[in-house]
Amino acid sequence: MMSSVPLPTPMPEVVLDRSPVLAFVGLGGNVGDSAVTLRGAVHRLMTVPRSRVVSVSRFYRTPAWGQENQADFVNAVVAIETALPARVLLNELLNIERDFGRERAADGSGRWGPRVLDLDILLYGERVIDEPGLHVPHPYLHERAFALVPLLDLVSDIDIPGRGSARRALVQVGGAGIESLVER
Ligand code: ADP
Ligand code: MG
Repeated sequence: MMSSVPLPTPMPEVVLDRSPVLAFVGLGGNVGDSAVTLRGAVHRLMTVPRSRVVSVSRFYRTPAWGQENQADFVNAVVAIETALPARVLLNELLNIERDFGRERAADGSGRWGPRVLDLDILLYGERVIDEPGLHVPHPYLHERAFALVPLLDLVSDIDIPGRGSARRALVQVGGAGIESLVER
C-alpha cells in the first residue's frame, strides 16, 4: 500500500507573494557617455526579477551637486513595480552599478576605476526604511533637483514620506541649470 504522507511545503519568506510596490529608482552618471550608460541601465532594470519597469523619465543634464568641480551629470528616474523586498531590489541595483562601473586597468591588475553609474532607491512605495546601508526615502531626495525634476516627469506630485510634497520640495530648492536632453 502506498503511503501518502504529505510533505511539508517549504515557504521561505521571499517565496511568499507580496503585493507589488511602486518604487522609484534614480539613475545618474558623469563618466563616459552617460546618456548611453543610462539607456543601458534602463534595459538592465527591465530584466530585474519580479519587477516591471512602468515608466522612464526624460534624461537631464544637471550640474554636479555637492562636489562641484567635476563634469555635469546625466540623471533620470525610472518607476518600477516590484515584488522584491527593498533590500533585494537594492542588491539588484548594486549589481547593475558594478557591471557598468567596473573598469579594469589595462594591465589587468583588476583595479576599480571610477564609477560611471549611480542607482538609488528614491522611494519604495510609502515605506520608510532606516537600516544599515538602506535608507528610504533616499535621505537627499527632497534636496536634489536632479532627482526631483525627473521624478516629477513621472507623477504630477508625490508625497515623500516624512518630507511632504515632492513638488513643494522642488519649488524650495529650485531647478537651476537642469536641462532636458534632446533625444538623439
Ligand atoms: P550616493 O548614492 O549617496 O552618492 P553611493 O552610491 O556611493 O552614494 O552609496 C552607496 C551605498 O548607499 C550603498 O552601498 C547602499 O548600501 C547605500 N544606500 C543607502 N540607502 C540607499 C538607497 N535608498 N539607495 C541606494 N543606496 C543606498
Ligand atoms: Mg548611490
